[in-house]
Amino acid sequence: MGAVIAFANQKGGVGKTTTAINLAAYMGAAGHRILLVDGDSQANATSSLGLRHTSRSLYDVLMGDAAAEDVILSTEEPGVHLLPATPDLAGAEVEMATMDGRERLLRSALAGVRGRYDFVFVDTPPSLGLLTINALVAADFLIVPLQSEYLALEGLTRLLDTVERIRNGLNPDLRLLGILLTMYDRRTTLAKEVEQEVRRYFPEETFTTVVPRSVRLSESPSYGMSIRSYAPSSSGAEAYRQLADEVWARIKAFGTG
Ligand code: ADP
Ligand code: MG
Repeated sequence: MGAVIAFANQKGGVGKTTTAINLAAYMGAAGHRILLVDGDSQANATSSLGLRHTSRSLYDVLMGDAAAEDVILSTEEPGVHLLPATPDLAGAEVEMATMDGRERLLRSALAGVRGRYDFVFVDTPPSLGLLTINALVAADFLIVPLQSEYLALEGLTRLLDTVERIRNGLNPDLRLLGILLTMYDRRTTLAKEVEQEVRRYFPEETFTTVVPRSVRLSESPSYGMSIRSYAPSSSGAEAYRQLADEVWARIKAFGTG
């Protein structure tokens, strides 16, 4: 119970936040209790759920100035709570660098609350800095969103090297739950080629579900809604609903959750 899933890829704009939010919405609606932790100072997960300008955030929790339970908010999405981010999180990496156990701050901060949830999702910034390392050290599972474009595999090796380093040291329990192809444009041969290549190298790891490029998905954050609330019959909604089933099946197969 309380399995932690990190969403990471050091490349920006690949669908980390979109995936974390919409997977949270569908898993929450299916009856799982979800805590979404916004680990990016851009606070896109926070604003995408319609919450802005919160007074306290993950920053205060990581700095030891607030307990996670006092910062967590409920959201309009059934079953989904949020530990929000604020822009001051940008300075956290510098401040964390000199703190004791700097890679384990998030893991410790979540210890007191993860028992109340079935899943804790951690959205991460587009870098392999200390915030992403903290997410990977806290996590049981990793989901890697990959944009279905040329050179999608570039950078994945570096991410997986980092995962291997963390498995050999700070968190032996970390497992790659899956690689998710996002922003897939069925009209282009390029997208098909990228998909073939990713599935060739990662046949087991790559989710069957592919998230199509969808205008609805890109619009929903500005309304502060998940795709489940904003456009439930769109192609993007269907993909994330299907992904929720696939993620749940994989976690059950791993014997956790
Ligand atoms: P990341 O968190 O990896 O930086 P985001 O999830 O914020 O990436 O996605 C980057 C941008 O692309 C956002 O504006 C988002 O709304 C949009 N986007 C994400 N997934 C899709 C998709 N499948 N189709 C169309 N736009 C998407
Ligand atoms: Mg993001």
